Amino acid sequence: MNNISNEKGLISDIQKFSTHDGPGIRTLVFMKGCPIRCLWCSNPETQNHHEEIVFFQKNCIGCGECAEICPLGAIETETFKIDWDICDNCGKCAEICPVNSKKLIGKWYTVSELIKEVEADRIFYRNSDGGVTVSGGEPALQYKFVSSFLKKCQGLNLNTAIETCGYAKWEHLEAIVKYSDLVFFDIKHMDSEIHKNLTGKSNKLILKNAKTVSSIAPVIIRFPIIPGYNDTKKNLEATVSFVKTLKKVEKIELLPYHSLGEYKYKSLGKRYRLRNISLEEGKDIFKHKKLISSYGCKVEIIHSWYTQK
Ligand code: SF4
Ligand code: SF4
Repeated sequence: MNNISNEKGLISDIQKFSTHDGPGIRTLVFMKGCPIRCLWCSNPETQNHHEEIVFFQKNCIGCGECAEICPLGAIETETFKIDWDICDNCGKCAEICPVNSKKLIGKWYTVSELIKEVEADRIFYRNSDGGVTVSGGEPALQYKFVSSFLKKCQGLNLNTAIETCGYAKWEHLEAIVKYSDLVFFDIKHMDSEIHKNLTGKSNKLILKNAKTVSSIAPVIIRFPIIPGYNDTKKNLEATVSFVKTLKKVEKIELLPYHSLGEYKYKSLGKRYRLRNISLEEGKDIFKHKKLISSYGCKVEIIHSWYTQK
């Protein structure tokens, strides 16, 4: 363990026993920090590359401890809401809150500390051919740490995967792809202008990186289906045409839209910017799957809570 990089990585969460994000049973590591801002992002707590406080008001028991300890007077004394313009994310209120109603998101790990965390579940990986998937946020944003971590995992015979939005300098992406047995690569829209409106960035660099990544590593394309935003026939067909130009694509995975992360925006003092999307609209995902497979692509719907009729 002594010669592992001392590089530290900021992690927003570690989830164990996942069965959706790569082969077998896996540990998911969510890096904190992302260069794009998808309107539908269900993990807004992973967007900023710094520690930040969240407040889940419905858990608050009104003890008032947080307001007393806050050095900046940023906490209102009746509702215990945070004035986000004053708060500097020092975390003192989270340390004292007895019910985790206020919580600091983001913890720094060394590679050794993270390895220790995932090694605890080695028996589950071994029995299921599973391993570790690094997601986010965007893992390439902390490429030095992630690269060292994945390299060490491979050295320990753990299967490795990353999920990337693809918006990164090639050298940064390459540093983590080269130690990944599988890459989940997200594609959101084929029209650059619309992509910019939906995520804040053009798709040019992403599509260029998709081509290079798929020439060196097995790739699963992930396509979040956001009704009314990116699920036109034109965009679905353009996506299929593009994917067919890529080399090592195993399949396309369609991710159904959900609004389960909406409450997190409020807890972070942020506004959820997507319009209300009905469950009925979401069911079109089955038509989209049929259309994509009619072009000869292997396609699956994952994380689905709809029942196909
Ligand atoms: S994180 Fe620090 S500054 Fe922000 S509300 Fe809590 S105690 Fe106050
Ligand atoms: S310390 Fe926690 S439970 Fe107590 S008032 Fe603050 S947020 Fe609510």
